[in-house]
Amino acid sequence: MKILVINAGSSSLKYQLIDMTTENVIAKGNCERIGIGGFITHRITDGVTIEEEANFPTHTEAFKKLVELLTTGENKVVNDLSEISAIGHRVVQGGKYFSSSVLVTEDVIKTIEKISDLAPLHNPAHVLAIRACQEVFGKETPEVVVFDTAFHQTMPPKAYMYALPYEYYEKYQIRKYGFHGTSHRFVTGRLAELTGWDMSGKKIVTCHLGNGSSVAAVKNGKCIDTSMGFTPLDGLQMGTRSGAIDPSVVLYLMKHEGLTPDEMNTLLNKESGFLGVSGKTSDSRDLVAAASQGDDRCQIAIDIFRYQIKKYIGSYAAAMGGLDAVVFTGGIGENSFDLRREVCENLEFLGIHINQVLNEDLNHKEGRISADDSKVQVWIVPTNEELLIARDTKNIISK
Ligand code: ADP
Repeated sequence: MKILVINAGSSSLKYQLIDMTTENVIAKGNCERIGIGGFITHRITDGVTIEEEANFPTHTEAFKKLVELLTTGENKVVNDLSEISAIGHRVVQGGKYFSSSVLVTEDVIKTIEKISDLAPLHNPAHVLAIRACQEVFGKETPEVVVFDTAFHQTMPPKAYMYALPYEYYEKYQIRKYGFHGTSHRFVTGRLAELTGWDMSGKKIVTCHLGNGSSVAAVKNGKCIDTSMGFTPLDGLQMGTRSGAIDPSVVLYLMKHEGLTPDEMNTLLNKESGFLGVSGKTSDSRDLVAAASQGDDRCQIAIDIFRYQIKKYIGSYAAAMGGLDAVVFTGGIGENSFDLRREVCENLEFLGIHINQVLNEDLNHKEGRISADDSKVQVWIVPTNEELLIARDTKNIISK
């Protein structure tokens, strides 16, 4: 069985075709500049890469192009579309309506559309992609949607409610939703496989650290709290996002800088975080390189990030009443051994002891990096959201 996984944005469409017998990627790529031109990068697992200018007025043309590359020419990987059993879509916001992945129906599409207000940059694009997919593949190819928010739907009200007048929760559904749920769920599941643990009774903190970053407290295999909130702006400082700040700062800046809500939104989402603090870069590798050359602002940005992660681990251990494992994943979590070392430093009182040799040796790889006698296990688990989307899709269509 082959499953096509789609991660659509308003102007881009990332895809992976996965063979579910081996769980290997057969081909993957990205259609960019949808609506403003068109460019496709298409990679086949044996090493061929195709890069082409294209014309993508809408997502439909992007789908037609990727189908053409998958099914025709000397580099085709399937003979015709019927070999693709189903399509799995990543959807950012499922609101309170979806606590697990579901088969796409007209009602499901309408619900995703209905909660677009909660994810205006993402949900409308997902709907466009789902409809374009139906047009190109025909309605007989099943589609499944997998939500970033679903894993976090198990949070109790004390974790997801904000202390605002209750009417705004009722009127606008303002509450914490949490994001990156597919990644937190994937690494939790993988940790269970790697340790052989039955997750009941286990208390885990999963740290997804990339351009966007979030931490989750997972107790008995279920999320009980997470750092992102109503939107993916909350929690940790990120590449260009501020993370949590005193809400009064927003009002103060809008007043004193004369900023509109849209301008403030841009400042918080695109001009803050590593980029805003350093004034140089949103990329953690560049930040570390500049800091090692004596750039103080880059060093502050690094310090803020690591300090915040450490505090989340401590607070989630308190929230869960203990800690059995910490998992690092995402571009930074998987690849930055000095970040992992610093975050875990002085957490011996919680039972965390890193084996520094393993921490450096296993960089970029999957494995346990805590010392044998560490009460809390610390792991690097590379995330694979696309694979989880493909597995959910397979499970749902097999029912
Ligand atoms: P996204 O959230 O967009 O999926 P990623 O998970 O790919 O992002 O993470 C991107 C971040 O990972 C960047 O800040 C980048 O600097 C960092 N990163 C990637 N590779 C390395 C590496 N080898 N060492 C340190 N940081 C890395």
